[in-house]
Amino acid sequence: MSESKPYAADRSLYGKLRRRFARFSHTRPIGMPGIRRPMLTVSFDDAPASSARNGAAILKSHGVTGTWFISAGMMGQDSHMGPMTSGDDIRALYAAGFEIGCHTYGHLDCGRAGKDEIDKAIEDNQSVLHSLGIPMPRTFAYPYGDVSAQAKAVVDKRYLASRALHHGLIVPGTDLNQAPAVGIEGEDGERVAMSWLERAAKTPQSWLVLYTHDVRKAPSPFGCTPEVLNRIVAKGVELGFDFVTFAGGAERALMAGPASRAA
Ligand SMILES: [Zn+2]
Repeated sequence: MSESKPYAADRSLYGKLRRRFARFSHTRPIGMPGIRRPMLTVSFDDAPASSARNGAAILKSHGVTGTWFISAGMMGQDSHMGPMTSGDDIRALYAAGFEIGCHTYGHLDCGRAGKDEIDKAIEDNQSVLHSLGIPMPRTFAYPYGDVSAQAKAVVDKRYLASRALHHGLIVPGTDLNQAPAVGIEGEDGERVAMSWLERAAKTPQSWLVLYTHDVRKAPSPFGCTPEVLNRIVAKGVELGFDFVTFAGGAERALMAGPASRAA
């Protein structure tokens, strides 16, 4: 997503069927036996510098944590989401206790890429993060939310959990290799995120993962304003959510071991 016109994932029937089929392969279903209070993760993808500055400041002001899924190949570039994070931004996020997750080096569409290409995009990303002093990421987010069975086979070996973009709550039985998430993006972003917050708050054994991109006054269609993010985080605090990083939530959800494991 570094061009002025964003690349779109495969929206064809074939793409939809591939993502659907992928839901049944290389799964990591969770049990969540120890979870009694709904968990909430706020995540930022790619990531624009405004997320590392305005987004992080909002999370800090509420005393809560979050996760940044970095595509290191975008670092320092200009984009339709504004300037992207610098190495210093990423180091500052990590130093502040936020999680740095992997999003491939060049924002690779893993739904359409081969296994070797995905492996390389992950290795390249991790090597830049390593050079910044960031430990090996423990979680992953699929660029464009696009998934295939072979992409899942790759991330299954490397990560505790991997996030996709289909809406939903993580509940017992959910596959952590293709976890659902809800975007705070576009005109309707606040309303959609708030309705999922309300729903999750009524489900004690649940985990809601939110994501956005830029956090600034005039956001891209993939981002939100600081005011919207602040209202959503404040609502999460008010509703009593347990804020976790994506890795922290996965650790807790997996604490008693996976429910069962398929293919
Ligand atoms: Zn992305």
